[in-house]
Amino acid sequence: NPFQMKDPSLLRNLAYIDGTWAGAATNFDISNPADGSIIGSAPNMGAEETETAIRAAQSAFPAWAAKTGKERAIIMRQWFDLIIANVDDLAILMTAEQGKPLIESRGEVIYGASFIEWFSEEAKRVSGDVMASTWNDKRTLTIKQPIGICAAITPWNFPIAMITRKVAPAVAAGCTIVIKPAEQTPLSALAIAELAHRAGLPAGVINVITADAENSIVVGKTLCASPIVRHVSFTGSTPVGRILMEQCAPTVKKIALELGGHAPFIVFDDADLDAAVTGALQSKYRNAGQTCVCTNRFYVHESIYDVFVQKLAAGAARIKVGNGFEQGVLQGPLIDDQAIRKVEQHVSDAVKKGASVMTGGKKHALGGHFYEPTVLSNITDDMSIMHEETFGPVAAIVKFKTEDEAIAAANNTDFGLASYFYARDISRVWRVAEKLEYGMVGINTGLISNEVAPFGGVKQSGLGREGSKYGIDEYLEIKYLCMGGI
Ligand code: ADP
Repeated sequence: NPFQMKDPSLLRNLAYIDGTWAGAATNFDISNPADGSIIGSAPNMGAEETETAIRAAQSAFPAWAAKTGKERAIIMRQWFDLIIANVDDLAILMTAEQGKPLIESRGEVIYGASFIEWFSEEAKRVSGDVMASTWNDKRTLTIKQPIGICAAITPWNFPIAMITRKVAPAVAAGCTIVIKPAEQTPLSALAIAELAHRAGLPAGVINVITADAENSIVVGKTLCASPIVRHVSFTGSTPVGRILMEQCAPTVKKIALELGGHAPFIVFDDADLDAAVTGALQSKYRNAGQTCVCTNRFYVHESIYDVFVQKLAAGAARIKVGNGFEQGVLQGPLIDDQAIRKVEQHVSDAVKKGASVMTGGKKHALGGHFYEPTVLSNITDDMSIMHEETFGPVAAIVKFKTEDEAIAAANNTDFGLASYFYARDISRVWRVAEKLEYGMVGINTGLISNEVAPFGGVKQSGLGREGSKYGIDEYLEIKYLCMGGI
């Protein structure tokens, strides 16, 4: 038990299919991004194991779907309680495989669990309609039924929450599911599967297939091609989302996509400047900038530009960087070498084209995957950082003059996930909120996610909404009943 977990049996090195722990011919290693040490391994599964898991989900489906919402809710509540009871161990495991500071891992476990709690409650509120009939002798009504066997493919930046945000509404609706967690962070997924098992979730209702980067492609293909699977939900990069959408076309599978973002953060001249700086720090540097709702571009009014840049740089310089297990650390390592390279490319490209480094701007003295919290000013539109998702701790700040100019610049992207702005004039607040082409708008706040609100994007940031009262609809089909002879 290398990480002082109270319950070492939460550290699982086998995948979970049909209620049992399953291996494969070979394993792949999982490393700690803070120091590269190997913390465990997982079975490197492929098409065959995926088919087995799909069949397990298929066998479990009729009995699970036949339960009442309340019956499913009781088991889900038990699962939620077990996750909360094990929050410390789950946080340790997450920091070990993902790198985020322990305090953020704890926050994610609670956030992740909140979807199970929320959808356990929503399980009881799936209702149909009775419509006014257009015929005297017929009645027209709807019932809602689970869509069936589902699949979830999830990323490493939120190893638990991106799973529960899909799995909780699916199982609440009466669906069964095959989960393929990111190759970097399967241990958190397996730990919550263990807790689902302990909570009494029947065999086959949830299944976790693990695979390395190469085999993940095979697993993805198998899930998308299967005629048994009715729904694929994916969170990850836009290029992979496009591939999955294409792979789902032959079977006309329903698909939910939470893809990349390129969040703008506008600070108007009537904003509370200090509040804007606080919101900017939260939105930019959380998870070392590795979230799809992290700000990528700051637009600041010319009258407050210099002060904002100064204050943000001072705030960023104060963020303690280090191993997520260390006390007081607020920014851990980036996930891998490729992530570091992307950040380095964006910074060097910006500097070459005239950006000024206000703080940071290079790899951290700790080496490895650590990068300094960075603020760049004098940003122009020709820089890569203005168009590609950085997924790292770099703030790029642009000066603007008019409201229209700021809105046009903010909307000038193929992405449309999160956006933020700070202003106090009430008419401006409405105007700007309505004009931003984004699925989510943070107004005078840099933190927006919770289980009660619908999370999702427009344009090439995705399809569908997760969480909230809308989230369960993804996993339900509406059936129209026309009753004649009355
Ligand atoms: P990120 O850049 O955040 O790693 P990816 O989109 O590459 O985002 O990965 C998100 C998830 O998608 C991971 O579980 C990964 O294994 C999986 N994945 C990556 N490429 C493919 C693919 N071609 N088909 C199916 N799944 C894939």
